[in-house]
Amino acid sequence: MGSEKIFSRVANQNFYPFKLPDLPFPKNSFSNYMSEKTFDFHHGKHHAAYVNNLNKLLEDKSEMHKKTLEEIILASYGKSEMMGVFNNSAQVWNHSFFWHCLSPNGGGEPKGDLMAQVKKDFGSYDSLKEKFAQAAATQFGSGWAWLVADSTTKKLEIVKTGNAELPITQNLIPILTLDVWEHAYYLDYQNKRPDYISIFLNNLVNWDFAEKNFAAI
Ligand code: MN
Repeated sequence: MGSEKIFSRVANQNFYPFKLPDLPFPKNSFSNYMSEKTFDFHHGKHHAAYVNNLNKLLEDKSEMHKKTLEEIILASYGKSEMMGVFNNSAQVWNHSFFWHCLSPNGGGEPKGDLMAQVKKDFGSYDSLKEKFAQAAATQFGSGWAWLVADSTTKKLEIVKTGNAELPITQNLIPILTLDVWEHAYYLDYQNKRPDYISIFLNNLVNWDFAEKNFAAI
């Protein structure tokens, strides 16, 4: 699967015991849009808790210690007795990927091959933006909005997932994501999720990272 190397690339690790990856920017980089306090909680508490919970759940599952995080996610997906492993491993993956979707020099539009594919599949960047914003706004409750690519045709698509779910279980390659759990925006935006989504798309989104993910398929 083309997504199997993404976690090792963004988190610089592959196997149990997992560590909380560093943020790829100083946590005061977005002070006008996303506060240091949000990163203290979102990265320092929420993401850290998923890592710690996952390590505890895997402690006595030695068969999982030789699996990559992606393999753990796929091995636990849809199995009721492994729901805790799935939720925590998927949330470790989602957050490790999400931090790279933010950039202190964010905003603008994709370039190169990714932009060519955007025009082919959405008609225009504005249309992609509108569809992404709509998916992020209409994900009921906790979850994620994604730009994904088909692993063989590279066709782009916008999808939304609930709670910890992520596109790699559907053999779709994640290109970009936005966390729409309340913990991602409540300190800065309270209940105004649409404001958080529009700030992300106008000022924070890291298209350089998305271009690398698209090029790596
Ligand atoms: Mn989160």
